[in-house]
Amino acid sequence: MVTKKTTINPLHNKEIKVGYRIVKIKVTPANFNKGHMCEEYGQYQERISTIDLQDKLKVRDEVNTFVHELLHAIVSDMGETGKGGVLSDEDTEEKFVLTQANALTALLFDNKWFVQYLYDKVMQ
Ligand SMILES: [Zn+2]
Repeated sequence: MVTKKTTINPLHNKEIKVGYRIVKIKVTPANFNKGHMCEEYGQYQERISTIDLQDKLKVRDEVNTFVHELLHAIVSDMGETGKGGVLSDEDTEEKFVLTQANALTALLFDNKWFVQYLYDKVMQ
């Protein structure tokens, strides 16, 4: 008999500081509430400072989704998502976050030495 080993994603229940907020990370099956859905892989819920990530994503998809949702948290604190802000239109915010997250994810995966450089410098 083969027993399937279940692993818990190490991001689950972690907290990350984003500006003045502490954002809780939940790794869950893809049955998110009807909050701010991004694609189908994650969501950022500002009111409860939570990022939901879909479980069992491929590595690049998980990293990209995590970066994407973090950028939503960051831009919401910039004051530009409110009325009159340059990202006040939801579609504009989504396009901005999507392009930045995709570019940053590609940059990190395509230049792994850069990740090590950042780690070394930040950890000094
Ligand atoms: Zn999004």
